[in-house]
Amino acid sequence: MKGDLRDLDVRNKKVIVRVDFNVPLSKEFKVTDDTRLRGAVPTIQYLIDQQAKVILVSHFGRPLAKLLPDGQIDRQKNTLQNVVSDLSELLGKKVDFFPDVIGDGVKQKVDSLQSGDVLLLENTRFYPGEEKGDAQFASDMASLGEYYVNDAFGAAHRAHASTTTIANHFDNAHKAFGFLMQKELDNAKRVLADPQHPYIAIMGGAKVSDKILLIEALLDKADKIIIGGGMAYTFIKAQGGNIGNSLVEEDKLDLALELLAKARKLGKLIVLPPDSIAADKFAPDALYKNVPSHEIPSGWMALDIGLTARFEYCEHLKGAQTILWNGPMGVFEMEAFAHGTKAVALAVAEATKEGAFSLIGGGDSAAAIEQSGLADEVSFISTGGGAMLELLEGKTLPGVAAILK
Ligand code: AMP
Repeated sequence: MKGDLRDLDVRNKKVIVRVDFNVPLSKEFKVTDDTRLRGAVPTIQYLIDQQAKVILVSHFGRPLAKLLPDGQIDRQKNTLQNVVSDLSELLGKKVDFFPDVIGDGVKQKVDSLQSGDVLLLENTRFYPGEEKGDAQFASDMASLGEYYVNDAFGAAHRAHASTTTIANHFDNAHKAFGFLMQKELDNAKRVLADPQHPYIAIMGGAKVSDKILLIEALLDKADKIIIGGGMAYTFIKAQGGNIGNSLVEEDKLDLALELLAKARKLGKLIVLPPDSIAADKFAPDALYKNVPSHEIPSGWMALDIGLTARFEYCEHLKGAQTILWNGPMGVFEMEAFAHGTKAVALAVAEATKEGAFSLIGGGDSAAAIEQSGLADEVSFISTGGGAMLELLEGKTLPGVAAILK
């Protein structure tokens, strides 16, 4: 099968692996969440076991967009050296680091690798060619290895030099998806191609504008789309509701009505919260009360779905065979407004136990599931927020297409 890592004959060969090591760091530059490092371990470990010479490349942050006052790159904050000790610990093996991505020094270092060694190169975004998908930069990187493996699902929606352009230098017998990337694609397929019904999608988060294309794509595939979070109030205002100071995108009111009309035409249900938790300010210690979503008092703002919505949303999830969840039901970072999100997380876990396949989009929905302690009780949590969103919208990801080409 095209893109299958196990089909590559990598023994004693130099293998470039694009990983996503864009992990959160503390002020002291210590890794605070190693999920992305752990995600890459199966591919790296496989290559070590195969006696390959592993050359890891990744981006980190946006160093060129946030230069120091003297115009220099903030290397201390953006160097991938910051992840080396955590990665070494996870692999149970010392990972070597080289402070550049291309050039003679890197070449010499790569030539000195023994089979089973792991070398991490510096942040690809120290070079302007990375985000531009520059052909020369990609070619210089490609010359370091005999094989190319892309395991950076979180960056697969970007046509950058190390995620996409580089793959042009390898034919199908010399490039593949890493195991993490393959797992993400296989799981996305379960909701994209021939999903089992009933298929219930839960959409939340701050803005409708971020999720329009996804909602449109889901109208074709899902049976019901449950909407919560800040984005619900653009729909509610569009229907003529009073939403007080709740989040709204005024320029998306017409679009919200169009989506509702399209759903009706297709015989699909877009479910909005009948009630909400309204707060007198955007703060953890705000006063709050349960009110109908169409009657948020002026000066108050809806920060969570209400008690009836919570109950109804959980009922909708009963008996589901496929569930896609993207975005929290409220401001789940504040305890008082996390109950709607928690209730939905619990209902998704419950439906999964009853046999549903549940896919949790990356970013905040993943954080919400983790926060609820239910990460092991859903089918799959994506590691790539933006990439998964684009995949589910039906787009072809450049990083994926480049491997299959
Ligand atoms: P997104 O990145 O679009 O998935 O949005 C996630 C963010 O939306 C989280 O930080 C939530 O706190 C925020 N959010 C969810 N519901 C609301 C709401 N009702 N009002 C304001 N912000 C919200």
